[in-house]
Amino acid sequence: MSASNDDNAERKMQFLYALRSHGVTDARVLSAMEKVDRGPFVRGHFAMRAYEDTPLPIACGQTISQPSVVGLMTQALKINPRDKVLEVGTGSGYQAAILSHLARRIYTIERHPRLVREATALFRELDLTNITTVMGDGSFGLPDQAPFDRILVTAAAEDPPGPLLEQLKPGGIMVLPVGQSDAVQSLIRVTRLEDGFDYDELRQVRFVPLIEGISRDT
Ligand code: SAH
Repeated sequence: MSASNDDNAERKMQFLYALRSHGVTDARVLSAMEKVDRGPFVRGHFAMRAYEDTPLPIACGQTISQPSVVGLMTQALKINPRDKVLEVGTGSGYQAAILSHLARRIYTIERHPRLVREATALFRELDLTNITTVMGDGSFGLPDQAPFDRILVTAAAEDPPGPLLEQLKPGGIMVLPVGQSDAVQSLIRVTRLEDGFDYDELRQVRFVPLIEGISRDT
């Protein structure tokens, strides 16, 4: 084995170790995260830090989430292979790429045209054909494709947006950070019951805010 193969294997082992030591223990989630190389999702001079368990800046002033937080959110969703999943906040596309290995169909919405373009190109390059990227304000969900088995929001709202609650199937699960944008936020899991919703608080997190409307940047 060449030195660079050794380096890659070592890097992958450390990456998976960091996930496990932060509580990501679900075998299917770990296997999906092993399949998705975070490198292509981080551009520019932060690319060399792609394998660290840390959030990093991406274009449009946004961030790619910390891998262990991605793992914990994915695990909390309890995805079944036949599920149709909605992600709000495509960003780099890293989270959607992981979801694409776990569920049948992924819809992901982003309000920055540039991030939509770059993620779409990357999904095509990586042959992730079950992801559809949509440009829009994800706080309204995606009524055309609703209802969803699972919804994952990767930007923080003050409260769970009403349209997203409506677009969740009975028995469905939504995971999202809630709280004021720069104060402490809580990651919560909402389960839709036949006659209401069940809320469960998972941990403290810090995400960029969910912003209304689409961005005018090109
Ligand atoms: N899941 C991403 C994390 C991106 S950070 C990843 O794996 O890289 C959150 C993203 O949510 C940002 O790209 C931001 O532009 C987007 N966002 C914020 N408010 C939004 C809204 N109302 N609709 C769609 N996307 C939104």
